[in-house]
Amino acid sequence: MDKKYFIAANWKMNADLSFINEYFSAFKSELENSNDMIICPPDIYLQSVMDKAPSFISIGAQNISQHEVGAFTGECSGHMLADHSIEYVIIGHSERREYHRESNEEIKLKLLKAIENNLIPILCIGESIEQRESDQTFEVIGQQIRRVLDRDILSADTQFLIAYEPIWAIGTGLTATPEMANEVHAFIQSILNEIHSSKIIPILYGGSMKSSNAKELLQMEHIHGGLIGGASLDASEFIKIYNIAEEIRNG
Ligand code: PEP
Repeated sequence: MDKKYFIAANWKMNADLSFINEYFSAFKSELENSNDMIICPPDIYLQSVMDKAPSFISIGAQNISQHEVGAFTGECSGHMLADHSIEYVIIGHSERREYHRESNEEIKLKLLKAIENNLIPILCIGESIEQRESDQTFEVIGQQIRRVLDRDILSADTQFLIAYEPIWAIGTGLTATPEMANEVHAFIQSILNEIHSSKIIPILYGGSMKSSNAKELLQMEHIHGGLIGGASLDASEFIKIYNIAEEIRNG
């Protein structure tokens, strides 16, 4: 079956205007684009990235408020993102779960706001090292999905992506083996099927993906792309990962 890949960059709180200028000078217009490339810069640079990025690249935010409008200092609403033609939004990244104490309940509200505003959520889930070592991975992942996604959400005609990001692999240089990641991705798919049998949701892997390990990960049956932090800050490295997905898809 033809598998389309989503190769997404999470720049986190990195970049500035000169970085952005230099970054996109590395993108040649002839870059193939049968898969999707998404770049998620900090909010303040969304417009600059949109202005500089080749048109086949989709732009995403890294967070969204669960509120519509009002006295929420420092927040950015779904309407505001949509107003700027942003297409994607990362929701529930482990750094937000940890440093901003975002709960599954809050993450669900954010996901609903994204959907209301026609933004495509990239829902991040993943277990900590303690949870993996005490055999709780599947329980934690199951809870993270069931507390956020329900039959109504999955029945609606909306698109979204899930990113499986084992916390112990984020920014650490440790990567889940392709088999480990594939096993969890298959489990995620099975839970989604239990909630709603016919919804196909691409599941990306995140956690120290780079050009040297992308091929073996992306070739796995249940892995439909990558959410890439550190390696996405190097344009040539990110393009290499994207081109690996192109090679796999186009033979
Ligand atoms: C991330 O933060 O989403 C991520 C996967 O980071 P890294 O690629 O640096 O591990």
